[in-house]
Amino acid sequence: MKIALIAHNQKKPEMIALCIKYKDVLEGHDLCATGTTGKLVSSATNLKIRCMKSGPLGGDQQIGSMIADSALDLVIFLRDPLTAQPHEPDVNALLRLCDVTNTPLATNISSAEIMLNALKNGVYVKHGADEFN
Ligand code: PGA
Repeated sequence: MKIALIAHNQKKPEMIALCIKYKDVLEGHDLCATGTTGKLVSSATNLKIRCMKSGPLGGDQQIGSMIADSALDLVIFLRDPLTAQPHEPDVNALLRLCDVTNTPLATNISSAEIMLNALKNGVYVKHGADEFN
């Protein structure tokens, strides 16, 4: 599975804690991340992560492009809902593309844990863009 990790600054400690807790699940998958998130998570966990540009410098758009190609199976995007982001349009575009392509998206740690447990237990499902059965 291809998994993208993104965390706004206030949420980076949660993302690091999540990745430490689920390291055994994540290490079996192909990981990518926005620049700063990826560097912090990989130095805390030793997970191999393909780092894109930092989110505000285009990293969200790079990951959005992968979502548009249906090239990701899961996106964990720990958003900070209480702080204005200079790259809000990029964030919204990424979230929208997840819905366009039916890509599973977790925007908070509780949802992320449900999805990672589904992955761990082999009950993960990703539908195609126009498919539900
Ligand atoms: P960052 O980007 O991981 O480079 O900080 C995250 C974001 O704010 O989109």
